[in-house]
Amino acid sequence: MDQRTTEESGFKPRYLQHIGGELYLFDSVLNGTTYIHVRALANYRATPTRNGVTLTLQRCNELYSIIPEIVIHIDQVRRKETTFYRRHIGGNWYVTMETGFNTVDIRRFWQPDDSTCIRATRKGVSLTFNQFDELKNGLRMIEGVVPELSQVVPCYLTGNHQRDLCRECSPNNTNIA
Ligand SMILES: [Zn+2]
Repeated sequence: MDQRTTEESGFKPRYLQHIGGELYLFDSVLNGTTYIHVRALANYRATPTRNGVTLTLQRCNELYSIIPEIVIHIDQVRRKETTFYRRHIGGNWYVTMETGFNTVDIRRFWQPDDSTCIRATRKGVSLTFNQFDELKNGLRMIEGVVPELSQVVPCYLTGNHQRDLCRECSPNNTNIA
């Protein structure tokens, strides 16, 4: 039954890993473009839900590259030291951590025209530290079955990058770290 449902929905990721709670790490291909998801599945793991995030390969690679920084901040939170962490991974997607919240947030932000601050949207996922640990391990494994991940180059090395006006690297035309 599980197998049949999978075929009917067309959901056939090459990589699928439970990272805790409702959340899974998996890949998808849409019109020839690969995406990495951290997302809840329903219907005996056969149907992706709207609860979760979709990362381009580039943003997924950025996330992968900042894992050591995130780990340092998790340790700080566990030691009850004050911490604030916010890192842009592209296209207004940020990884954030705050004192008092034992989560790693991967979330889309936006900047209102009348403001110099960015604001969180509801598009995102809050991972417990255990879920982040599983994600961390998964991001190491997924490259084995999604080989295009290893061929991704950072935006600033591609022809799409536009120095100060890059929509991917500085989508709000400001230098918010
Ligand atoms: Zn760029």
